[in-house]
Amino acid sequence: MIRVAVAGAAGRMGEAVCEAVEAAEDTILAGRADPALGVELADVLGDADVVVDFTIPDTALGNVRASLEAGVHTVVGTTGFDLEAARAAAETSSANCFVAPNFAIGAVLLMEVAQTIAPHMPECEIVELHHDRKLDAPSGTAKRTGELIDGAGGNVHRPIHSVRLPGLVAHQEVIFGGEGQTLSLRHDSIDRRSFMPGVLLAVRRVAGLPQSFTVGLEKLLFDE
Ligand code: NAP
Repeated sequence: MIRVAVAGAAGRMGEAVCEAVEAAEDTILAGRADPALGVELADVLGDADVVVDFTIPDTALGNVRASLEAGVHTVVGTTGFDLEAARAAAETSSANCFVAPNFAIGAVLLMEVAQTIAPHMPECEIVELHHDRKLDAPSGTAKRTGELIDGAGGNVHRPIHSVRLPGLVAHQEVIFGGEGQTLSLRHDSIDRRSFMPGVLLAVRRVAGLPQSFTVGLEKLLFDE
């Protein structure tokens, strides 16, 4: 059994993670940390093999550092925080840190396909659409998609447009334009359960990762 503590357990994503951890046969919920519950991460760290963090950009790095200093593996879904500082913390820890800007398999597949298209149709724009209480813009997924497109050779001006509206969950479109044609990729997370298989996969794999710091669910899906 993998003992999992959830930071941000009273949040929208954190609640879904707690349910998924309780429902899975090989994981057990070891603690729920959240200001709304009056429980600090430090109170539950001692009972955990893995911490899953879905908090806010201002506190995610502190949680990552605290977990790694305690030798507890860390899976992070929070976006908009300093990834290089998290990498530095992981490199001096005996525990591993895994970060994914998007845990939904469909969003990861969109990023993969975008890299195939980019060398052939380098002009593209990214539109990301989220619920109106999301704190960061542009989204971590959109920034990561842009980096991957750049790395694949689509290295041209590539704006990201951010839409924040009630009614939305998490959506992204990449529109490629060429002479006389466009090609659109779109992914929609319409329920937060879409992220849970990816979160559980990361919880199961984080301890055995070859690098102390790993970014992107694609590393778990395609780099066997
Ligand atoms: P949310 O509903 O605001 O939840 C965040 C929760 O974390 C809140 O309950 C917050 O409490 C709590 N929190 C703040 N500081 C904390 C601390 N030091 N320790 C423990 N808990 C703390 O936000 P959400 O919609 O669940 O999103 C959370 C994060 O996940 C965002 O960064 C979002 O972009 C990201 N996200 C990632 C993915 C992915 O696939 N990677 C998917 C969806 C969302 P207070 O309200 O009291 O501050």
